[in-house]
Formats: sequence, C-alpha cells, structure tokens
Amino acid sequence: MISLNGLTKVFPGGVRALDGIDLTIADGEFLALLGPSGCGKTTLLRTIAGLETPTGGGVRIDGHDVTRLPPGARDLAMVFQDYAIFPHMDVTANIAYPLRIKKVPRARRTAKAAEVAARLALTDLLHRRPGELSGGQQQRVALARAIACHPAAFLFDEPLSNLDARLRLEARTFLKRLQRELAVTTVFVTHDQAEALALADRVAVMSQGRMIQTGSPAEIFHRPATTFVAAFIGSTPMNLLPAELTAGALHVAGATLPAPPGLAPGEPLTYGVRPEYMDLSRAERPGAFPGVVSVLENLGTHTLVTLDNPGALIQLVVPEGDEPPLGTHVWAVPRRSLLYRDGLLHDTPAPSS
Ligand code: ATP
Repeated sequence: MISLNGLTKVFPGGVRALDGIDLTIADGEFLALLGPSGCGKTTLLRTIAGLETPTGGGVRIDGHDVTRLPPGARDLAMVFQDYAIFPHMDVTANIAYPLRIKKVPRARRTAKAAEVAARLALTDLLHRRPGELSGGQQQRVALARAIACHPAAFLFDEPLSNLDARLRLEARTFLKRLQRELAVTTVFVTHDQAEALALADRVAVMSQGRMIQTGSPAEIFHRPATTFVAAFIGSTPMNLLPAELTAGALHVAGATLPAPPGLAPGEPLTYGVRPEYMDLSRAERPGAFPGVVSVLENLGTHTLVTLDNPGALIQLVVPEGDEPPLGTHVWAVPRRSLLYRDGLLHDTPAPSS
C-alpha cells in the first residue's frame, strides 16, 4: 500500500508541480494517473520512487515512512517511456540486471531471467541486444526487468507511448493481464484517457499539481466531478453547453428542459451531454436541441454528426447508415446528461420525456 500525505513539490524557480496531494493506493491496485501535459504526473511518480525529494508532505509504503529513503531502499520498479534498457547487454543480462545489483549468484539470476522471459514471450530473443529488437520487444524487456526483482510496486511512466497504435493496444491488454496475475500494486502515468480507463482499477485525474478526482473508470466517465474532467474524458469530447435558469425551466442551446432542484436564477450553469448519449430525431421534440447538420465524420461502426445550433456546436454519434444528409434540420435528443454549477457537478438531470 502506498500513501501520499499532503505531498508538495516546489521546484527551485518556483514551479509548484505538486500541490498537497493526498492519495492512498491499495495493495494490488492498478491506479492510472491521468492529466494533461505539465500537470505533475511524472513528478508525482518520481517522488514516490525517491528520484525527487518533496518540499512538503510524505510518502509511506506499507505504513513505513520512506520520504527520506533513497530510491534503492524503496523496493519499487520503475519503467519509463524510453524503456532505459542497456544497449550493450543482451536480453538475459538486461532482465537479470537488478538481481546482479542485489548480488544474486549468476546461475540463479540467469534462471530467473529465463523464467520471466518465458512469461513475456521473449525466450527466443534472450541472446539479442536491444538494437536487434522491435519497440514492442524492447518494452517487454523493460517490463521483464521490472518483474524479475519482485518489487513491492510497479511505477510506469507512459511505457506504451513509443509503440504504434496497434501494438499499443496489444501491449495494453497484455499489461492488464500480467498485472492481474502478479497482483502487484501499480501506478501508471498516462495522458491518454482511453488508456487510463481501459487499464486501471481506479483513475486519478490531476490538473496543475492537484488531484481533481479519483474514482473507478465508470465513475470518472459517468460522473466527472468538474467540467475539466468532463472535457478531458471520452473518445469524443463531451458537449458542454451554457445553460440558463428562468421561471423554473432550464434553457440550453434552443431546448427547454425541466430545472433540477437547488438552483437559483443567474447562477453560472453548464449542461454536459456526451455525443454517445444523444439520439437523432428528424422531427421537433420537447427537450431536444435543434441544429443543421454541418459535418459528418466516419468513426467506423458509427458517425460523429456536428450540428450548427444558434447557441453552440452540438455533436452526437449515430450508428452507421443512420447519418442525416448535410444541410438538413434535425434535433438531438439527450438520454443522459450532467449539470455543472460553477464548474462543479451539481446534478444528473433525468432525461426529458
Ligand atoms: P508530461 O505529460 O508532459 O510528461 P507531466 O504531467 O508529467 O507532463 P511533470 O513533468 O511532472 O508533468 O511537470 C510538472 C511541472 O513541473 C511542469 O510545469 C514542469 O515544467 C515542471 N518541472 C518538471 N521538472 C522540473 C525541474 N526539474 N525543474 C523545474 N521545473 C520542473
């Protein structure tokens, strides 16, 4: 178990990369740290690893305060984006390297390297050097090296980002299966929301050195706590539309919707609805957003439809074959929506009938 308490890192020069992070990662949990570039993900991982010293707060591993311990005394294995495997060593020597540092006898470390290599389908490559391997194979060598030393936790910093799209998907599935089998606590840094949702038991979303929301992938997807998380999560961006409350009704992009309780007129409201949670109607419907079809984008099994609406652009996803012709007037009917007050989740209004 890894516990972070008020973890703060201010770099010389004044950049506040971590700003009072509180987070507990349970034993065996797979946690994805997600956020835009520069939000502090790598700094957080490096601080857990001991490669950065926090300027405030602390790190505990299994209840022990490790804040002042050097990286080597923390029993953690880190895998970086660039793998950092040694070019002059063959695969066996690379995998066995941490065991060599621990002074494990040669025969035992070669046997261990062979065992881990078999698990990662590297047996035929044991005598090759990194220069003779593909990116995906190098990534597996870096993983094998991390596994070989039986760490208390894995720390991954965008380990899949150098792989092409297809290999990246394969590696993702592979990594998830492996983590399940080994049940080792894992912290995985990524700026790719789809990767975070697919891999993790729990996702932690960061912005500007702060933890904005932690939750299961389903919670983060269905109940984003702020408009920042709402805009960040989802393969097609959520529609975030300004809303106005008057005389007990909510007015959003040309539609009149029932007002949820607990709101006063004049409050800054944002209505959120994912493109996947809207249906297309060719006739006017109460509570539906009117618009003119302006763009059609092919997503394979579905099409992303953009409507020009007097107040906003509205996007919805329709099954292939159901695309409305460009230039036609249609309506987007929300099935599942969210309402934000001052950027914070207020309510999930019931769909209009
Ligand atoms: P990315 O996804 O681009 O890797 P990140 O979320 O991992 O970004 P960090 O690398 O943790 O972000 O950086 C957080 C902030 O701290 C950034 O503003 C960055 O410029 C700053 N920073 C990082 N390392 C240092 C350093 N050694 N000295 C000064 N500022 C730094």
